[in-house]
Amino acid sequence: MGVKIIVLGAGVVGLSTAVNIQSSIPNACVNVIANNFYEDTTSYGSGGLFIPTSQSQDGSDVEKLRKWCADSWKFYASLATGLEAGNCGAIISSGYQLCNGNLERYQNALYKEFVFQYERLSDKEMEDFGFLPHYKFGFKVITIALDQRKYLIWLQQRLRDGGGQLEKRKVTSMNEFVDKCDVLINCCGLGNRELVGDKLMFPARGEIVRVKAPWIKHWVNTDDVTYMIPGENDIALGGLKQNGKESLKVESNETEDVLQRCLKLIPSLKAAKIDHTWVGLRPCRKGIRLEKETLKFGNGTLEVIHNYGHGSDGVALSWGTAMEVVDLVKKCLPQRHEVMSKL
Ligand SMILES: Cc1cc2nc3c(=O)[nH]c(=O)nc-3n(C[C@H](O)[C@H](O)[C@H](O)COP(=O)(O)OP(=O)(O)OC[C@H]3O[C@@H](n4cnc5c(N)ncnc54)[C@H](O)[C@@H]3O)c2cc1C
Repeated sequence: MGVKIIVLGAGVVGLSTAVNIQSSIPNACVNVIANNFYEDTTSYGSGGLFIPTSQSQDGSDVEKLRKWCADSWKFYASLATGLEAGNCGAIISSGYQLCNGNLERYQNALYKEFVFQYERLSDKEMEDFGFLPHYKFGFKVITIALDQRKYLIWLQQRLRDGGGQLEKRKVTSMNEFVDKCDVLINCCGLGNRELVGDKLMFPARGEIVRVKAPWIKHWVNTDDVTYMIPGENDIALGGLKQNGKESLKVESNETEDVLQRCLKLIPSLKAAKIDHTWVGLRPCRKGIRLEKETLKFGNGTLEVIHNYGHGSDGVALSWGTAMEVVDLVKKCLPQRHEVMSKL
């Protein structure tokens, strides 16, 4: 008899979780339900760079973060150096992490032990690249950018190829899933403020201006949330990080501010043509919620695994957290089947 798993949420976290379960649990029948897919998710618009800085997330267990980071990196590195790179949008990407304050945070960045290269820039290099006097310190980093416009499609296709289904609708309560699946996985990101009443969740509003500037090949990211991330067809310029602000409206004064900050670093961007501007809300939480819970309703019990609250690092950490969900699903299954067989 097959194992029925339902994943709520079709952002990078939900789809990675669904694909991981499907490929790791024999006979798993995995369906994804979400009210938004692809371009209507936060994941779609994100920069997609693997530079997770979540060690600064309050309440996160650093050893867990390291494991999620390591597991994610191993997978992305295999994609970026393998045959599928062009199909799934995994690009080996070199660039510069710049900062003015808190040098230690970048010297000890959790991800530095995984990425292809992470080296301090000399004063001469800072000067030669024109980063001085705007930023005091810098690091040259070779990492991976996962272009979400390709990656999300690739994940959806992998799921369909393995027999999984996608359903578009809003879920208002989890009790409808009692007796409908063996395990329910909750990857609803910010939607969990409403769905499970999680008061620790909050939005961090960001904006990305996509421009055409094919002569720029290296990314730059700074500790004042200014960044440029070249993708296959355009460059993502950012950014903003406004905690608690909900509006998805593009504000022209904010766009201008983003452009001016990027221009200061790369003056040739002045000739870049703006393609479009996008606003998204990072699903932030004091610590990612990744745990199993047995929910009791009037009509029975439901095994739920929560996997949400990835904040600014959802692309980077999604594969690693998905792998941990697989371990938790395996722990739920014998228990669940024992109960079912006694009925
Ligand atoms: C400007 C910006 C730049 C970023 N850059 C990077 C970066 O460079 N690197 C990086 O690692 N991360 C980056 N991020 C963060 C990253 O985008 C997020 O952490 C990630 O997308 C979160 O994925 P998710 O699947 O949890 O959420 P989402 O993509 O928001 O998906 C949530 C899913 O849940 C569904 N859902 C919610 N509630 C319900 C409900 N009640 N019923 C049914 N479905 C529901 C939604 O429809 C959606 O399908 C950036 C974010 C922003 C805003």
